[in-house]
Amino acid sequence: MLAGIVLLLAAAAAGFFIYRNTPRQKVQTVAFSEFLHEVDAGQIASITVRQNLLDLTRHDGVHVRTMAPAGYIAANPTFVPLLEQHHVTLDVAASNSPAPYGYLAAFGVFAIFGALGFLIYRVTTGRVPSIEKRAGRMDPRAPVVTFADVAGVDEAKDELKGVVDFLREPGRFAAVGGRVPKGVLLVGPPGTGKTLLARSIAGEAGVPFLFASGSDFVEMYAGVGAARIRKLFKDARRHPSCIVFIDELDAVGRSRGGHSLSHEEREQTLNQLLVEMDGFAPNISIVVIAATNRQDILDQALLRPGRFDRQVHVGCPDVKGREAILRVHSRKITLSPGVDMRSIARGTPGFSGAELANLVNEAALIAVQAGRHAVSDQDLDAARDKVMMGAERRSLAMTEHERVTCAYHEAGHAVVASLLPEADPLHKVTIIPRGRALGVTMQLPEADRHTYSRAYLDGQLAILMGGRIAEEVFLEQMTSGAGNDIERATDIARRMVCDFGMSPLGPLAYKGQAGDPWQRESNAISAATAERVDAEVHAIVMHGYRVARRLIEHNREAVKRLAEELLVSESVDADGVRAILAGAMLEAAPTEAVH
Ligand code: ADP
Ligand code: MG
Ligand code: ZN
Repeated sequence: MLAGIVLLLAAAAAGFFIYRNTPRQKVQTVAFSEFLHEVDAGQIASITVRQNLLDLTRHDGVHVRTMAPAGYIAANPTFVPLLEQHHVTLDVAASNSPAPYGYLAAFGVFAIFGALGFLIYRVTTGRVPSIEKRAGRMDPRAPVVTFADVAGVDEAKDELKGVVDFLREPGRFAAVGGRVPKGVLLVGPPGTGKTLLARSIAGEAGVPFLFASGSDFVEMYAGVGAARIRKLFKDARRHPSCIVFIDELDAVGRSRGGHSLSHEEREQTLNQLLVEMDGFAPNISIVVIAATNRQDILDQALLRPGRFDRQVHVGCPDVKGREAILRVHSRKITLSPGVDMRSIARGTPGFSGAELANLVNEAALIAVQAGRHAVSDQDLDAARDKVMMGAERRSLAMTEHERVTCAYHEAGHAVVASLLPEADPLHKVTIIPRGRALGVTMQLPEADRHTYSRAYLDGQLAILMGGRIAEEVFLEQMTSGAGNDIERATDIARRMVCDFGMSPLGPLAYKGQAGDPWQRESNAISAATAERVDAEVHAIVMHGYRVARRLIEHNREAVKRLAEELLVSESVDADGVRAILAGAMLEAAPTEAVH
């Protein structure tokens, strides 16, 4: 027993030692496309390749890292000659030590003991170890961004100009009598540029940027989160002026009074944050910016005057915004002359800034892989499809029967979609597997949609049913391939009944059933109502099924031709579908009322 304790303590000491001394070195990473540009521009001195990880040294001695697409180096016979042409030293590192598993196992055992010991150390001493260092990271090498790097959120930028002015000249600001901004809350969905905006304020004003994430403060042990908050603001007060950015504020800022286990800890952390924000000396110009996508769950105390009393909404960009964001990101790549950014922007409704940035990067990769030096319209189009639907998996082996099933399934979706007047226009049908799907029928809304009409949703249900029905009608089979369609259709129908008031049950919100353990809402529905809800959901889905079935049975020729074309050429675009449908005799969409 005693020996066991001694062993544990030794492991604890070792574990803690390792914990403290592991260098947390961070190498800056660059996009692969960026790397290829740097090679072209002759900025790269040497490369060490470790599988698809590339460690780069630039001529100015800076080390950076990038990741090649899987299999890129093996599949590109031009890659090594390209490096030679630019006199880049190429080195290949062994991917692992000679006996990787032995080391790994030894390390694993060691790590487990270490972790165990560390845990005991923490619990028994009750002292807060130095992990509070984690909060308030400042990365001086991070590139400075300014408002010019953020696009499509002009209103937010206008509102934030005041903060920049204040940080630039706090004295003058006070003299004019402007109310000093203390806390700004950026509210909006993920990927819309909240972090980027916060960084750009620091960049515009030329002040340090201290970054922390709400989840850094959420710990099991009481007091750790609060200590980290204290540390963060202590660091901040070292600068005459700076920005403290707290990402995911909702992780700490949830309203109090919940019954979760870590509730006491969270309350302490939140209180500490409030105390720090209230306690700024008037001569210090620190602005706290926080970001969240769940403003509704924040504790009201956070939103009071003197705290996060300024809320700036950062939404998904509209067409103009998307075009602007695409332009910002394509500054870094070479575009072929005549690339039409406006049409790409029009074809990407609902894309966030992050997705658009991703699109541009993918387009550059596609161009590079094809051995071209400039990005064309086609590359951007292909990148859009890739971001939207997942990458093509051409290697997935499908049996001939699966291909036929898939072709009829997608043809069913596509024919129903093109015959319904309310549906979004068809963009493309393919039986090239993408992501998890074996085939895809893609529609593109003509404009950004914010609300959905009853007719649109009914149409959506019919389109979803079209795949399964085509299989039934032409191949006399049912497959699991329609599983996802069915799930989505059921979700839509349920929301139509429970959230949108689109059934005879009337415009009421039907929340979960009373008695569910996770259900605490007061307007939970009774078992009897739940049965009626289920019946209405069923009726709505079956209506969609009947509409689609009739369309497909009346237009067998069109479905068959489209499926055969898909089997030959794998994908058919909107014009192709139109041509095929024009050749077959079409019958207009029959109409039927649900009730
Ligand atoms: P959020 O914090 O809202 O989740 P981020 O600021 O982390 O979003 O955005 C991630 C990336 O997406 C950014 O680094 C940037 O490259 C791109 N991005 C997002 N929004 C915009 C925008 N409005 N303008 C330009 N780039 C954007
Ligand atoms: Mg963010
Ligand atoms: Zn389907």
